[in-house]
Amino acid sequence: MFFFIGGIQPKTVELEEIPRLCPACGLAQARLRRVDYYLSLFFIPLFPVKRGEPVLICDRCGAVSSPDAPFDARPSVLSKKECPQCGQPLDPTFKYCPHCGSRI
Ligand SMILES: [Zn+2]
Ligand SMILES: [Zn+2]
Repeated sequence: MFFFIGGIQPKTVELEEIPRLCPACGLAQARLRRVDYYLSLFFIPLFPVKRGEPVLICDRCGAVSSPDAPFDARPSVLSKKECPQCGQPLDPTFKYCPHCGSRI
């Protein structure tokens, strides 16, 4: 699968410039990132098909951890929504539930 010309490609997005403390190694080298999945053709991402969850990835030790650490001062950016109809987790930017189609 290394030479496919079209398909789904992951794309890592940096959400924050300022590194945070890594819970694994204790150094301020962890950055908040999100892995989005793009439909791509000839290695060019065309459009996103799936938005990933934000995770902290440490540049030093490579540890991946949840951004819901106690020192997180901006929970509103990362807040998750749930569909009131079916209870599935939703992207906060969604206006309609992709699972059951009900308006949020
Ligand atoms: Zn680390
Ligand atoms: Zn729903």
